[in-house]
Amino acid sequence: MSDQQFDVIVIGAGPAGYVAAIRAAQLGLKTACVDDFTGKDGKQALGGTCLNVGCIPSKALLDSSRQFWNISHNFPVHGISVEGAKVDLGTFIGRKDKIVKQFTGGIGQLFKANKVTAFYGKGKLLKGNQVEVTGKDGSKQTLSATNVILASGSVPIELPFAKFDGKAIVDNAGALDFTEVPKRLGVIGAGVIGLELGSVWKRMGADVTVLEALPDFLGAADADVAKIALKEFTKQGLAIKLGAKVSKAEVKKDGVHLTYSDKDGEQQLVVDKLLVAVGRRAYTDGLLAADTGVKLDERGRIVVDEHNHTGVDGVWAIGDAVRGPMLAHKGSEEGVAVAEWIAGKAGHINLDTVPWVIYTEPEIAWAGKTEKQLKDEGVPYKIGTFPFAAIGRAVAMNEAIGQVKMLAHAETDRILGVHMVGPGVSELIAECVVAMEFKGSSEDLARIVHAHPTLSEAVHEAALSVDKRAIHKGN
Ligand code: FAD
Ligand code: AMP
Repeated sequence: MSDQQFDVIVIGAGPAGYVAAIRAAQLGLKTACVDDFTGKDGKQALGGTCLNVGCIPSKALLDSSRQFWNISHNFPVHGISVEGAKVDLGTFIGRKDKIVKQFTGGIGQLFKANKVTAFYGKGKLLKGNQVEVTGKDGSKQTLSATNVILASGSVPIELPFAKFDGKAIVDNAGALDFTEVPKRLGVIGAGVIGLELGSVWKRMGADVTVLEALPDFLGAADADVAKIALKEFTKQGLAIKLGAKVSKAEVKKDGVHLTYSDKDGEQQLVVDKLLVAVGRRAYTDGLLAADTGVKLDERGRIVVDEHNHTGVDGVWAIGDAVRGPMLAHKGSEEGVAVAEWIAGKAGHINLDTVPWVIYTEPEIAWAGKTEKQLKDEGVPYKIGTFPFAAIGRAVAMNEAIGQVKMLAHAETDRILGVHMVGPGVSELIAECVVAMEFKGSSEDLARIVHAHPTLSEAVHEAALSVDKRAIHKGN
């Protein structure tokens, strides 16, 4: 096999693509991965959106900002007072950059260890499973493979009246790199990204206003969870305006002048920085030659079947570029499954049990169906709930907010959905995903020993509550 001939070429080294490449190489396939992301140091940075400007840096800033917020909002409850606490923003952002560098560099090392060949440049699928790679200097080379996996990810949606300028109007990448805390921060879109990054800057001292066009808060989440979360975020001082559709954003000397309409008519708001977080779109610009036969759907996503196959011989697609939730772990699991299918093994991906997590304070996490979905589908169900207010560990932590809500089939007791808002629920959801993947019932979780005192007791008690036998609350 020549240097330019591979068993598998992956285009995109985000959590979908790099995982697919590593798994393919583990299975003995000669693998290349082409990616064009440039890091803050001007060099190739593997890991895609997630590692560079998404999951990892946002969690780094969420954690730092939480430490700062705790000093004024949580320490006093414990009898601890700290006078004159300050944040050095250079260190705050620098810590995040160091973490990003550590993880993007780590992918390079994993590629070396697994003998994945990395190419730095823009990959374009040509007919006949060839991939043209255009380097940053404009040089071109053509690679070929038996199988090509498209993992080109997604990019932020830009509003035509609020174009990103990287200074006053920013996307997620810009909001991870402010050089000073904005006095007034406007956020368009109360989705996961808007809420997480809005929380970061609120905790750092900004006045944050979130404008959301839809009348309901977090429509994708269970309504009870969304209600509790909205109440808590509002208590923290996040001004969340629902039914507020932004139509204009003008950058002037004194800030960004926003025009939006709500039930009372047209409103104005002036902010120093504006984060536009109205969703992301599959990114396929320049990815496909005209004659490849790979199709895009009405939302610009690469069309695939349930095995992530595009219908073109040897061409697969995974991650944010295809249907399904735009989440890193969903893309990674698709990557593993496709590599295994290519190697003739039994790959597996179940989109019905992909967990969702929002890393706000309190955290939000869910898997499976919401109560509304079950009602709409006419599925008979039972509900079990348990509040963190009755969990000793949560009270000891001074974080006794929120609840676990479990939905089980009324006849079979099979767990259909679990919805949580509260401390540590990003970790607690894993137990429920395991139970659901094993087609478990609420009775199964109710009969399993959970350590005391832990937050996981809320899951146990919610499972008991499905059958009206929770111990530490009235049923
Ligand atoms: P991407 O990560 O977007 O990677 C695609 C890569 O392909 C990029 O490096 C891109 O430059 C490269 N590329 C594209 N086209 C080409 C081409 N033609 N040639 C060469 N290279 C190309 N998800 C979670 O699960 N948990 C979180 O906590 C979370 N937090 C987030 C926070 C923020 C602020 C954002 C923006 C997103 C977050 N996400 C989170 C979503 C997550 O980042 C995405 O779901 C995930 O990155 C998608 O992975 P991917 O591999 O499909 O694509
Ligand atoms: P998500 O797709 O989860 O990132 O959420 C993006 C949110 O932005 C959605 O809830 C949209 O309703 C909201 N949105 C989109 N356009 C506008 C707009 N012009 N004004 C206010 N909110 C918007």
